[in-house]
Amino acid sequence: MDGKRNNAPAIGIDLGTTYSCVAVWKHGRIEIIPNDQGNRTTPSCVAFSDAERLIGDSAKNQVAMNPANTIFDAKRLIGRRFGDSKVQDDMKLWPFRVIQGPVDTPKIVVSYKGEENEFLAEEISSMILGKMKETAESYLGKVVKDSVITVPAYFNDSQRQATKDAGAIAELNVIRIINEPTAAAIAYGLDNKSDITCKINVLVFDLGGGTFDVSLLTMAEGGGTLEVKAVAGDTHLGGEDFDSRMVHHCAQEFNRRWNKDLTGNKRALGRLRCACEKAKRILSCNNLTSIDLDCLHEGIDFSMKFSRAKFEVLNMGFFVKCIETVEACLRDAKMEKPYVNEVILVGGSTRIPKVQCMLQEFFERKELCKSVNPDEAVAYGAAVMAAKLSGNNHKSCRDLLLLDVTPLSLGVGILGDIFDVVIPRNTPIPTKKSKVYNTSRDNQPCVDVQVYQGERTRSTDNHLLGTFRISGIPPAPKGIAKLEYCFEIDANCILTVTAKILSTGKTEKLTITNANGRLCMEEIEKMMEDAVKYKQEDQEYRKRADAFNALEECIYNMKNKIKNMENCKRLKKMERGIADTTKWLEQNQAASVDELHRMKKHLESICMPKFWFVNNVC
Ligand code: AMP
Repeated sequence: MDGKRNNAPAIGIDLGTTYSCVAVWKHGRIEIIPNDQGNRTTPSCVAFSDAERLIGDSAKNQVAMNPANTIFDAKRLIGRRFGDSKVQDDMKLWPFRVIQGPVDTPKIVVSYKGEENEFLAEEISSMILGKMKETAESYLGKVVKDSVITVPAYFNDSQRQATKDAGAIAELNVIRIINEPTAAAIAYGLDNKSDITCKINVLVFDLGGGTFDVSLLTMAEGGGTLEVKAVAGDTHLGGEDFDSRMVHHCAQEFNRRWNKDLTGNKRALGRLRCACEKAKRILSCNNLTSIDLDCLHEGIDFSMKFSRAKFEVLNMGFFVKCIETVEACLRDAKMEKPYVNEVILVGGSTRIPKVQCMLQEFFERKELCKSVNPDEAVAYGAAVMAAKLSGNNHKSCRDLLLLDVTPLSLGVGILGDIFDVVIPRNTPIPTKKSKVYNTSRDNQPCVDVQVYQGERTRSTDNHLLGTFRISGIPPAPKGIAKLEYCFEIDANCILTVTAKILSTGKTEKLTITNANGRLCMEEIEKMMEDAVKYKQEDQEYRKRADAFNALEECIYNMKNKIKNMENCKRLKKMERGIADTTKWLEQNQAASVDELHRMKKHLESICMPKFWFVNNVC
């Protein structure tokens, strides 16, 4: 990208669990940017091998051969603890290894260039973001810096912060984190602006690869002003879970038939997962499909029919949960079903007929809106937001006004393991709220403030965002000294907490540090350096592969050229040159770029001298 002027527009990135998508505002409209394979979405997949690192389609394409070092689902790990029961459940079905790092952070272990490497979920996500950045840069021909990245509406503060960190590692300036369903609603509003002639209520049902969100919004006439009323969801529910149920079912069936457990065979699990995902997609159109895998485990072939009915039975629990979440969202927004004017489907898993059918039944046979592209709407909306935030003066950007809410309640842990809420869920953001607390002991010199996020009564059942100490409280009987805790949520839905001793005015601020699992600045910088190093290695590898292929192609072309050549004085010399180069290549598989170039030039000088022949006659 050297030499390209750094005035690229801000981009919008949908960093999905299974697929990611990047878009930009160009020529007065949004363009979804295709990747180097021409695909409009890119698998959120990173693979490591003895020779190279692959990201996106190339990583996904080799998963069956290299399952233990092909990483997907980083979004299901990001901002979570290793001990989290969801992480522990997922680990059982992942073909790659996850270990417990410092402060209970999960670390992914891979073998890369013959060495064991450990990566945080933030780093893997940063590699995917880096790929999306590169995709945009080659399309725009400019260095991209500013971006809007989307996250599930139901992501907590740690997951949002970790996503922001992933952006920083990828050298992206994350100007805003926005919620995926909100981004989809922006896309819907823009697409339908002329049809939105009065205020309408819109429910976005976003079921993707790993997360599920429901958002209820009101949209003003023209679709430009969006006010989120309530969100609900599950950051651990999506297409991957449906795949896992299928994998589990197939593994059981294999065990029943052959009395052999394949769950320890990572390669078999990886192949089975791919086959199940494909079968699942087919079952969205057909009633029956089959899963056929040669030599799946211990040389045994596996073949089984899979019906749509079976798929639905296996996953009915998840589907019911989706509908219950819609109910909860309506309850929180205090809105009755008939007042919902539009139900918008987003995310690849909304293509499942049973999901559509149950949702339609819930809304008393209302037509569901499928006009937005479920795979692209989120990136589309993010790009509109990116354009607006970077000052694009187009009417659609200028008119966009977004009023979002905080998805989960925020508060502190108080005596008796009680969670005391300071900001209730679904409060419009940005917001700032304060609450005053007393000391609980006589002459208490300090208080350890524990900040939680969640909906449970016991504080320890919620997600601990961080702890900080405020000291220097003047001696006083219990209940007399007063402390004010101020919670502030910015437009990214990211939180800052300050505590103040009211009698002295002394304040202390919570910065979520490494001790809470968050990366510190030095770690981010170190990861940024690593990212540059990996990128350089990738480029060098690609250069070498190109040089290798060029020499192979040259040998092939020369062989063809001399095939029909007769009466040529140089023929013998050419044949020898081709044979020598072929042998050299076989013996020097690890040759450097320079050596490969030199050999190619040498072969060309033998077979294509300056006084080259006309019509293959020399
Ligand atoms: P997203 O995160 O929105 O990209 O959605 C990806 C998820 O949608 C993956 O789990 C896919 O397997 C799933 N998906 C995509 N197309 C279909 C389909 N036709 N039927 C069922 N699931 C699908």
